[in-house]
Order: sequence, then C-alpha cells, then structure tokens
Amino acid sequence: MNETSRGAKSMVQTVYSITVPAGDVVFRQGEEGRVAYIIERGKVEVSIDQDGRKAVIAELGDGEIFGEMSIIDDAPRSATVTALTDTELVVVQRARFQKPIAAANPLMKLLLRVVLSRFRDAQRQLSGLRDNSKRPDTSLEEVRNLALKRITAEREMRGGLEAREFVMHYQPIISLETGRIAGFEALMRWQKGDGSFVSPAEFVPLAEETGFIAELGRWSMEESLAAQRRFAEATADAIPDAPTPFMSVNVSGYQLSELTEIAHLADIIDASGVAPANIKLEMTETLLVQDPDHASKALHEMKKSGVSLAIDDFGTGFSSLSYLHQFPLDTLKIDREFVNNMESSDNSARIVGSIAQLAHSLNMSIVAEGIEKSEQIVALKGLGCHFGQGYLMSKPLPADDVAALIETNPSW
Ligand code: C2E
Ligand code: CA
Ligand code: CA
Repeated sequence: MNETSRGAKSMVQTVYSITVPAGDVVFRQGEEGRVAYIIERGKVEVSIDQDGRKAVIAELGDGEIFGEMSIIDDAPRSATVTALTDTELVVVQRARFQKPIAAANPLMKLLLRVVLSRFRDAQRQLSGLRDNSKRPDTSLEEVRNLALKRITAEREMRGGLEAREFVMHYQPIISLETGRIAGFEALMRWQKGDGSFVSPAEFVPLAEETGFIAELGRWSMEESLAAQRRFAEATADAIPDAPTPFMSVNVSGYQLSELTEIAHLADIIDASGVAPANIKLEMTETLLVQDPDHASKALHEMKKSGVSLAIDDFGTGFSSLSYLHQFPLDTLKIDREFVNNMESSDNSARIVGSIAQLAHSLNMSIVAEGIEKSEQIVALKGLGCHFGQGYLMSKPLPADDVAALIETNPSW
C-alpha cells in the first residue's frame, strides 16, 4: 500500500492509525507528502538515495515522529522510510495543521519556514548531497517579503489609529415600506497623513491577517455606538414620531474567533448605553462556513448581549443553505451584485426572490444592498425585502453630515 491509497481516509479523519508490515516502505524520497507519522509501536529506518546507493541516516522507534516537514511546507519527501518491524503508526493529516498555520501570524510563519529550510539544508550537507540546482528558496523569500509587508502595514495602521486617521462613516438604511431612515451601517475609512484614502476592502484584510482587526474592531464598535446615540437624539428632536434608528456594525470573523474578544465587544456594548435592540452586528458567510461549530458558539455568545445579527453579502459564498437555521440570525443582507443585476438578469431577480422567501420562512428580515436606481426599490419591495441601502438614497457620510441629513427628515 502506498501513501496515496492510505490517504483515502483523509477526507474523513485527520488523525488515524495504520500498521505497516516489516519491510514495507512508508514513503519514498521525492514523493509528495501530506501526512506525518508518529511511531506508536515498532521501528523504522530512514534512508536517502546517494547516486543509487542507499544510505541509512537514522533509525526511529516508539514515540518518534517523521515526515513532519512535508506537512508544513510543500517540498517533497527528503528521505525514504521503511518499516524494520511490523510497525503501528499514527497518521497525522496535513489538514490538521493547515488551519492553525494559516491562522498563525506572519512572523510565526516566517520562523517556521526559516527553521525548515535550514533543517533541509543541514540534512543535505550531512548526507553529502550537493544541491545541484542551487536555486534560492523562492518560497522562503516570498514569505519573508510578505511578513515584512504585513509588519510594516500593522505598524502603519497602529500609528494611523493613534493619529486619528481612521474615521467611521455611516450609510442610511431605509425602510422600504415607509421610505424613511430605519438605521445606519457603520463603515470604516482610513485617510492617511498624506491625504490619500485607503479602501477598507484593502486594509480590513490586512488588519485581519495581522490580528490588528481586534483593536480596530473595538474602536469601531465604540465609535459607532456613540454615533448611534447622537443620531437617536437628532431623530427624536427632528422627527418625534420616528422609531429609534439602529446601528449596524461590521464585525470580522477574526474578532469572533476568540471568546475573550467577544467578551470585550459585549463590554463595549454594555458600557455604550445603547439599547441592544438598536444594535446589529454584520458578519460574512465565510465565518459560518469555515467552522460552523465554533461560529454557532460564538454567535450564541454574542446574542447574549441582546444584539441582533445579520449575515452580510448573502448569496456570494454560502455552500449550504441548510446551515442557516442552526445560527441565531435575524437579518440577511442581499449582496449588491444581485440587486445590481436584477433588471438585466432573470436569474438575479429569481435569486433575490428566493433569498427573500427563505428569509421569510426563517423569520428573518432582509436588507438589500447597493440600490442605485429607484426602479430597484419598487422591485425589491415587490419581492418582499424590508430594508434597503445604496447610493440612490445616500453614500456613507461622516457623522456630522448624517446629523444634518436627519434634520431634513428625508424620505425616498
Ligand atoms: P460591506 O459590509 O458589504 O459594505 C458595503 C459596501 O458597499 C461599502 O463599501 C459601501 O460604501 C458600498 N456601497 C453601499 N451602497 C452602494 C451602492 O449603491 N453602490 C456601490 N457600488 N457600493 C455601495 P466600503 O465602505 O468600501 O466597504 C467595503 C467593505 O469593507 C465592507 O463591505 C466591509 O466588508 C468592509 N468594512 C468596512 N468597514 C468595516 C468595519 O468597520 N469593520 C469590518 N470588519 N469591515 C469593514
Ligand atoms: Ca456590511
Ligand atoms: Ca455587504
């Protein structure tokens, strides 16, 4: 049995045991490797091929690990491993490590790569093998550049936050039924010292990769909830019979990956003095898809503070609709792609219709994003959407401009 056929189990389990009879090869030098092995009981021999001659470089016994390098980097097996006795092996799938490695900060990844590449070099020299190609380790260089870029980016963002270069803008979300403002979505902006704007589509992913999103997210939560109080007051003053506007805050999946971070956010919500009924948290589908069990725990934890939860960009990346009902969700936000294409594509209109039906049957409200034409309002209303936002009504605005807008008691 070779590695590939043993690997058939990989889809199901990330750790399992196999027994390799004495004399069998576990893997060969040069093969692709996606698993590591721990010797539960038995003995193996590690050898390398030297110009057609076999050179044994180690014998390993109970409790020792081998094949571990290939699960961290993509390089082929650097040696051949043969069972000397009937050997029981615990097989550890690469998949088991990919998430933590991917989640590790860039410095950690760089460190891993450096250690690995040094180790491989040392192994080559020990065995007297010449690295004929002598090509530089490009993957190492790439990782190093990436790590440097991230570290610089984090330092810049951190400095930017201190220098108050980050600001929140707020985009009105209207009730499609009344045509009036029902709430706002808080959207982050970064205006650098030199006056240039960096799009959140650019810096949010960077902040996520560096872990800085936690700090940035706490700041945006505080800022947005303070703005909600201001807008609620302005609304009460200008339009006494209007309901209190809600504030919808974007929360990255990274912020919800640690329960301690959720507790931080809950504290900010408690301290804000904003009624949780007027707070909505928006998160994207990926969070739910990647780790549904954790997501369910995290979302239930978040719900404890009384806020409502919305799924952002709905329809763009969900692999299974059947997941939906297991999460405590209150709102679906239909991605602007669908809204945009509604008139030109029957498909998009049908998708919007089905999402609306789905939301109704799950007792959720629906927000349509990216409304740019008045015909879209009519169509969306007809399909059963409750709320809408888009440039037609208003672009995201600084808090002062929102306060001024509220005073005009606008309707669309
Ligand atoms: P998103 O949450 O889907 O936000 C909606 C985006 O659509 C915003 O882009 C908004 O300005 C834009 N938009 C609204 N109406 C229209 C329209 O009618 N037409 C068009 N073409 N665009 C419209 P923005 O502000 O550039 O934000 C981009 C993304 O960055 C957001 O997408 C969100 O994923 C992320 N983001 C922004 N602020 C935050 C934040 O405070 N925290 C986190 N975690 N992510 C944020
Ligand atoms: Ca959003
Ligand atoms: Ca969105």
